[in-house]
Amino acid sequence: MTETIVSTETLVEKPATLASLRAGIVSGTTKATDLAESYYARIAAHNPLLNVYLSLTREQALEQAGAIDAAAARGDALPPLAGIPIAIKDVLVMQGTTATAGSAILKGYEPPYDATSVAKLKAAGAVLLGKLNCDEFAMGSSNENSAYGPVRNPVDPERVPGGSSGGSAAAVAANLAVATLGTDTGGSIRQPASFCGVVGVLPTYGRVSRYGLIAFASSLDRVGPFAANVRDAAEVLGVIAGADRNDATSSQLPVPDYAAESDKDVKGLRIGIPAEYFAEGLDPEVRAAVESGIEVLRNAGCEIKPISLKHTGYAIPVYYLVATAEASANLARFDGVRYGHRSAKATNLSSMYRLSREEGFGAEVKRRILLGTYALSAGYYDAYYKKAQQVRRVLAEEFMTAFGEVDAIVTPTAPTAAFKLGEKTDDPLAMYLADIYTVTASLAGICGVTVPCGTTSGGLPVGMQVLGPHFGESTAFRVARAVEAGQSS
Ligand code: GLN
Repeated sequence: MTETIVSTETLVEKPATLASLRAGIVSGTTKATDLAESYYARIAAHNPLLNVYLSLTREQALEQAGAIDAAAARGDALPPLAGIPIAIKDVLVMQGTTATAGSAILKGYEPPYDATSVAKLKAAGAVLLGKLNCDEFAMGSSNENSAYGPVRNPVDPERVPGGSSGGSAAAVAANLAVATLGTDTGGSIRQPASFCGVVGVLPTYGRVSRYGLIAFASSLDRVGPFAANVRDAAEVLGVIAGADRNDATSSQLPVPDYAAESDKDVKGLRIGIPAEYFAEGLDPEVRAAVESGIEVLRNAGCEIKPISLKHTGYAIPVYYLVATAEASANLARFDGVRYGHRSAKATNLSSMYRLSREEGFGAEVKRRILLGTYALSAGYYDAYYKKAQQVRRVLAEEFMTAFGEVDAIVTPTAPTAAFKLGEKTDDPLAMYLADIYTVTASLAGICGVTVPCGTTSGGLPVGMQVLGPHFGESTAFRVARAVEAGQSS
């Protein structure tokens, strides 16, 4: 058997910045259509190995690019993301292509409308290249739960890209899109961004509309961007954020100019370092990289303050009760009647429900439906679900108290760098522990940005998580920018 060796140097590539691409498109030196074609050529070359894209929307993309080129030629004012190639996690719906959520149960499902975040990108002139692979219904930390095969990490194709938004992170790392959208329920933007060496944003709950997002756990689900640098991520968040009449949980608060905010100096900012995030289980090389990032902040004039978030240890069990309970309710709609797969073996209504679900859902999704149904069932509701909600509140209040003393909190994004494909697939608990530093912010509804802060001795990227209070994205971006600047100097 011959093996194709692909050099990772050709896989990892930094996209040009939004500002430089935009300048080229506005002046006409870069044609949006050529840019889109160059991305499709790179996708054709690398997607067979990386398995990042599940569908391509070439016709729509070239039509949008053509319209941008025509507008540029006329000298029209161009919208903020004019001609910028962006791709979308397959849990968000987009008209004219499939939305599978990484599940066999939604194979071939074509939604008739655009998610609000997708519609906003289109209105801002973005050229949407296609839909990205992910763990089934966004349940996972390695992208190995996709019914369409795992994504490989462009930094080392033997390793996972993280999950569940593995395709969204890997696409940016391999320059198969300039920016992408992902979703984060317990870490699914931050952990893969960290594993692939890119920037990922967890917006505050309510900052970005969830309309058109195939729900996993509705009180936790967020939509957010990935990009190769902090400023670009801030720019994309500014486009997708804002109130939406189709999502009653979306906030009415005005959307700041995040990119401009991210330019501000960090001098004098108070940065909290929670002891509980630097305890047992943290890989020493990850710790060293994060500590070097903290030194960058200290040198930039931040005040570094040790803090304690002493209930952190409860976050994983609380998350896996709340998230599974909500998932069991959300996934009840996939019954073979309205969407996707319907079993051919069914003989009556109840066997149609049962067989369609049995054939359509993967093992992890079934595990979670079982766990969630159990946690919600009579007799256990008070002991598990209600208790979890109470502890969730304690965790949120602990953050609120901490943000009375500090402007941002800095932690590792994940306890390790990217692990090998297959390494944790037989051990769900080990997989769940990959989210140990990310789930607490999810439960508390606060925001965060993950930014690369170094590499391990083996060259694997390490991410630093910068957490901000509710609607504190501007501060989180500023801090992340300072860490990023420290990397390139
Ligand atoms: N890895 C976590 C889980 O499996 C988080 C997933 C997510 O954020 N969507 O639930």
